[in-house]
Amino acid sequence: FNVPTAQNEPIYSYAPGSPERASLQQQLDAYLSTTLDIPMVIGGEEVRTDHTISIHPPHNIQHTLGHYHQGDETDIYRAIDAAQGAHQKWADLAWEHRASIFLKAADLIAGPYRDKINAATMLGQSKNAFQAEIDAACELVDFLRFNVNYMTQIYADQPASSPGVWNRVEYRPLEGFVFALTPFNFTSIAGNLPSAPAMMGNVVIWKPSKTAVYSAHIIMEVFREAGVPDGVINLVFASGPVAARVIFDHPDFAGIHFTGSTAVFQDIWKTIGNNILKYKTYPRIVGETGGKDFVIAHKSCDARAVATALTRGAFEYQGQKCSAASRAYLPASKWSEIKEHFLGQLKDLTMGDPCDFSHFVNAVIDEASFDKLAGEIKAAQAAPEAEILFGGRCDKTVGYFIEPTVILTTDPLYRTMQEELFGPVLTIYIYDDQKLDETLDLLDKTSIYALTGAVFAQDRYVIEKITRRLANAAGNFYINDKPTGAVVGQQPFGGARGSGTNDKAGSYLNMLRWVSPAPSKKTST
Ligand code: GLU
Repeated sequence: FNVPTAQNEPIYSYAPGSPERASLQQQLDAYLSTTLDIPMVIGGEEVRTDHTISIHPPHNIQHTLGHYHQGDETDIYRAIDAAQGAHQKWADLAWEHRASIFLKAADLIAGPYRDKINAATMLGQSKNAFQAEIDAACELVDFLRFNVNYMTQIYADQPASSPGVWNRVEYRPLEGFVFALTPFNFTSIAGNLPSAPAMMGNVVIWKPSKTAVYSAHIIMEVFREAGVPDGVINLVFASGPVAARVIFDHPDFAGIHFTGSTAVFQDIWKTIGNNILKYKTYPRIVGETGGKDFVIAHKSCDARAVATALTRGAFEYQGQKCSAASRAYLPASKWSEIKEHFLGQLKDLTMGDPCDFSHFVNAVIDEASFDKLAGEIKAAQAAPEAEILFGGRCDKTVGYFIEPTVILTTDPLYRTMQEELFGPVLTIYIYDDQKLDETLDLLDKTSIYALTGAVFAQDRYVIEKITRRLANAAGNFYINDKPTGAVVGQQPFGGARGSGTNDKAGSYLNMLRWVSPAPSKKTST
């Protein structure tokens, strides 16, 4: 087993005057001066339809980046046929060959496609250069390279043989096709969800979020250039209900690799349950869903570190990370110190177009999200148990801009302490230092989700106590650090409770979900 040991892709800074910035700027300008026509890709063929939908940058809604071709039920059936047609040959291909294809995809993204994938993510999903770089370039490359390593470990994991008896486990792909349903907020996840099952020999129908088609199309271009055969990954654009009707009704549906909202995942699970008698096999259900991620600080915390974690954890990428800090429990004795640092940092944040290379905050993804967030902020302004400590301005004249907003509440059960908003809104509750235990109980009880959590304390015993008490309230813990930014190969990412099946994206565990192990015993007689 001889594949390169994966290393995390180094992050470019795009500092002013750097050649990286000049080159990315050139790509942004190129995209801004053209209109892309984006087809589906089914069985290696580009499919165009009469129904086109235009794509606008969330931060500049008057501009048109391009349009994509929306499919219907016929296209989904066609994609399933193409996938089924490609299945046997792909499954029979030596795993080293599959590895080489995805390693090439990683190199293409790290090299010649880096600017394209970053620029597409900046324009289509309103990420600044740093947020695009750590996602679309680095994390996607890491997913591909680390998954190749995990794949080789899986195939190498063989049972002992004995004199005259040869034991072997064949890790077969699933019998049927896998459906990858991908979110807008991470281009890396959009690339990982179809490629992980495909790497293990499966065929995939991939439906990206309608708000991230612009970058999904670049990922598909990379897969094709890297040598993923026709029909192995099929990129379709369709409404959720249309795709669901065909996919979950099909006897060859063998698994779903999902990242998105809890409500959608629960609906999918119910549909699969209701259709279970239709399928050849029990479908694998792998999903990462919502979060209401917490920061809890103890009186022994470093106030400045808490403030930085809140600023970055809550407001990077406009809080549109499943892992974003969205509720904080802070000790009364440290509050004024934390507040001073925090408000000082927030005053310096600027908001605007990501192509300016200067704004920490850009636009939220679409009008529906903007309206929901604006409504929650308005409700908090009127609620007696809440006050807007910072921000609160919302403006959609140029793009969907919501100012980083901090709500302070006297009620730990206030709705924004419990409901996922998926935007730049953080709610803070100040607890009495003497009531740490009650606060931990309350935090656990209100953790319907369990994705990430951050604990701030300098007292080692307290850190131990809090993380043990909240063990089931988060899938990933951060001690004295913000709760976002998990790195592939270092902090495998995923949550439990309402946050998903905790199969950790980019991990050995995740890759195992895409195989059906078949041991065989052979004797020499
Ligand atoms: N892995 C990302 C992080 O650690 C979050 C992924 C998501 O939003 O789904 O910040």
